[in-house]
Amino acid sequence: SQERLFNFAAGPATLPESVLRRAQSELFLWRGSGMSVMEMSHRGKDFKSIIEKAEADLRTLLQIPSDYSVLFLQGGATTQFAAVPLNVCRSAADPVDYILTGSWSDKAFKEAQKYSKPNAIWSGKPEKYTKIPSFSDLQQNPDAKYLHICANETIHGVEYKTYPTPLNPDAVLVADMSSNFCSKPVDVSRFGIIYAGAQKNVGPSGVTIVIIRNDLIGEAQEITPVMLDYKIHADNNSLYNTPPCFGIYMCGLVFEDLLDQGGLAQVEKRNVEKAQILYNAIDRSNGFYRCPVEKSVRSLMNVPFTLEKPELEAEFIKEAAKENMVQLKGHRSVGGMRASIYNAMPLAGVQKLVSFMKDFQAKHA
Ligand code: PMP
Repeated sequence: SQERLFNFAAGPATLPESVLRRAQSELFLWRGSGMSVMEMSHRGKDFKSIIEKAEADLRTLLQIPSDYSVLFLQGGATTQFAAVPLNVCRSAADPVDYILTGSWSDKAFKEAQKYSKPNAIWSGKPEKYTKIPSFSDLQQNPDAKYLHICANETIHGVEYKTYPTPLNPDAVLVADMSSNFCSKPVDVSRFGIIYAGAQKNVGPSGVTIVIIRNDLIGEAQEITPVMLDYKIHADNNSLYNTPPCFGIYMCGLVFEDLLDQGGLAQVEKRNVEKAQILYNAIDRSNGFYRCPVEKSVRSLMNVPFTLEKPELEAEFIKEAAKENMVQLKGHRSVGGMRASIYNAMPLAGVQKLVSFMKDFQAKHA
């Protein structure tokens, strides 16, 4: 089919049409360079201008303080599960705290066991990962080097609306923001490290962005592979080795687009509106659709829901696909449905989904 679909995938995910068209128009020849971005040297002046503009625009979007570095890396957010303890802990004996709110923070916690002594100070698993804990009840280790959270659990659809503070005044808050990166303003100064895979809100897969306070750079454990050492990447402006050039270029186009939309406060407004429409449709369906997540921490990005009659799920997905709405199946670990409605999902896509859901219910109630 020649038509673009409404793609509700969790990542890789839908990108802004204007960005795709711009990339298309510049694909063969990037401005005056006589070649495409994919072909140019990562050390030449053209690519240097691309990566510098991407960083500058991201700094503007998130108002990143000057004592933070921005790194464009590879290996996905999964690589950061190891890089964080390797860089922040002096040895594998150092204690660190993890809050487990879903599959992704659990994966980060498990990887950290190889390079630190992580303590799961709270787990939402007994309640099927539908909650964020109250911060005052957390039993933090006063010696922990950092407190790790997943700001938005992509699979379970739980999102922090405020952030905890590490108990140890020398510790920092570390956040995996893969699935809500640049979806709303964030006070970067609350965090020691923010990391995110690009492939949900800001670009194609293959780029991982790390925002790190400079004093955390430079004391990685000795066993740290060179590609996981933040100092190597910071000293070389993310050009120690060949970076994912085209992906960084695409992220740059997305950042420009987000600035053109009025910045992250505007982006958040639209995301709130989209999420409200969808959650309202679920909550007002008399139980035909259900979202298991506690209302106060429902994600603006990933909306999981189940059908009262699970035997209708396959038909729901099939019928939705006939109307050009795809990738609505929930993650295989939780089942049900999931609609990911990142920045680039237009309001029209959410409206169409909600109207489909109402029709489907009317047919099957
Ligand atoms: N953290 C979160 C919150 C995610 O959603 C994902 C990917 N879905 C990851 C980590 C893993 O990212 P990657 O595939 O880029 O390694």
